[in-house]
Amino acid sequence: MLFLLLPGVVLAIADESRSAPPTGTLAHVTVSRLDPEPDAAGVIGGALDAEFAPVVGGTIHEFTPRPRWWKITADRSVSAKEHPQLVLHSPGHNTVEAWLPGSSEPVTRALLGPHADQGFSSRGLVFPIPSGLPAGTPIYVHVHSPDSTPMAVSIESLRDVHRADLSHVAWRALLLGGLALMALLALGFWVGIGERGYAYLSLSMLAQVGFFATHSGDIRRVPALAAQLGDDWRLPRLFVVAVAVFSVVFLTRYMEMRDRQPKLWNMLLGCTVLFALFALGTWLSEAYWVPVVGNLILLLGAALILVAAVHGCLQRRRSGYFVLAAWLPMMVLLIVRVGETSGLWAGPPWLMHALPGALLLAGLVFMIGLSDTLQQLRRDRDRASRLASVDVLTGAMSRPAIQNRLKACVEESHRRRIPLSVVFFDIDRFKRINDEYGHGIGDSCLKIIALRTRNRLRTYDSLGRWGGDELLVVLPDTHLEEAMGVAENLRSAVNCRPLSIDGHLFDASLSLGVAELAEGESAAQLLDRVDAALYASKAAGRDRVTGRVPVVATAEPA
Ligand code: GH3
Ligand code: MG
Repeated sequence: MLFLLLPGVVLAIADESRSAPPTGTLAHVTVSRLDPEPDAAGVIGGALDAEFAPVVGGTIHEFTPRPRWWKITADRSVSAKEHPQLVLHSPGHNTVEAWLPGSSEPVTRALLGPHADQGFSSRGLVFPIPSGLPAGTPIYVHVHSPDSTPMAVSIESLRDVHRADLSHVAWRALLLGGLALMALLALGFWVGIGERGYAYLSLSMLAQVGFFATHSGDIRRVPALAAQLGDDWRLPRLFVVAVAVFSVVFLTRYMEMRDRQPKLWNMLLGCTVLFALFALGTWLSEAYWVPVVGNLILLLGAALILVAAVHGCLQRRRSGYFVLAAWLPMMVLLIVRVGETSGLWAGPPWLMHALPGALLLAGLVFMIGLSDTLQQLRRDRDRASRLASVDVLTGAMSRPAIQNRLKACVEESHRRRIPLSVVFFDIDRFKRINDEYGHGIGDSCLKIIALRTRNRLRTYDSLGRWGGDELLVVLPDTHLEEAMGVAENLRSAVNCRPLSIDGHLFDASLSLGVAELAEGESAAQLLDRVDAALYASKAAGRDRVTGRVPVVATAEPA
């Protein structure tokens, strides 16, 4: 069954990709298929040899779950000294009986169950041919293929079988280990950060591992699990459905398709549901068209994801770039592999590992993509909080920000028993400037005054706009006398020279109040006192500083 495109499906192809005969074969083989189903005696006697029809591509592939007879012949004689082995690649859940030359009893092999030979890797089923194989002498095999898994056929020396087995095990460990590790990492991120995207990504990768392990026989390394799950050929399909569902949930959520691409989202959901129905339908129906239609639906789903990613890129959305980066290499390799397994062209041998590698890469890209989204959210949040804490016109702190700052300073001052003073000032007759020259000029005045006053403060002092033309300065670690000096400084910063705006000069001055925090005093009480001091400056004729000596508060501290 040819699965395409979605990650789990890619795994299916990746597995099938290994069915291409490896280099190092001892002879070219011809594979022939027998249509009728006679008993063994009728076949191995050779009476039906003429009825076997050669198949193109040398692959054993039966589309129905009925057992089938096959005949394998070599184009050259292979001697016993070469230790020839018949290898049936990537058998999935197939069970094979083989009648080898010189033996009247069949040898039965399967990846799982009592007929498994743990002496070889799960790369394929290996049958030794101890007496060698003369050219044209048939090996009869009886294949039961419950899930129509195709098997490439080759005859290899024992040395080459071991070499390929070692390489297979190494790649397999890397692939399964990498995927499992990445799935666990994603799970950890989900637990730690709480972003559900990581959970879906993790589940999708775990389902990929489940598919690999159950479809390709790796599960036999864990005997208890193999006994429970290994024998059932339907389990890998369940995993493929799980991969498709979790991948779609992850991708649609990651690309925010529900809100941004609702039509594509609906179509993709439809495809996923239909695919799941058809995949599970293969349990009930043996009809050839059921998996074919299922694969076509899957292809459509994969194409929709590609369209969504390209659309996202055109809208300059980062998620679109990430999906495209993860999806494209997988699709290109997949198409190359599909062409190769269909006999259209021959790619380099490393391609069989490149595809699962692309799958790992896709997982990594998505992990980075999710982190990037979170990082972006954090940046947005920081920007929003920065905007909320800054007064846009004057660049001074906003009222809530300066209020919080004052509260924190009052608490610290009481705790550490250090002085704290505040200066509250208001622009004199500012309304007049607005009325005579307009609000634009008024705004510029406010900006310049805020700039001039801020430049006279220390780095740990805070200036905030209280409202209108009133500004508050918080002076930590400062006694009243020193604060009076600062206030004088602020006053002279404004009235020392006129404000120059659009070629006009405007005289401006400030009235200021100063107060030092008294013992046990709250921020609100301090503000009341400094406001009164400011009012006194106004009442006394403006353009001046008024300070009040601290008084012991009677009310509860804030
Ligand atoms: P006083 O000396 O008594 O303070 O006189 P004043 O005219 O400054 O009176 P008051 O402080 O009560 O008036 C504040 C004026 O500041 C009222 C309003 O027109 C002006 N104002 C408040 N916020 C803004 C602003 O954001 N931009 C401009 N251009 N004007 C503002
Ligand atoms: Mg004023």
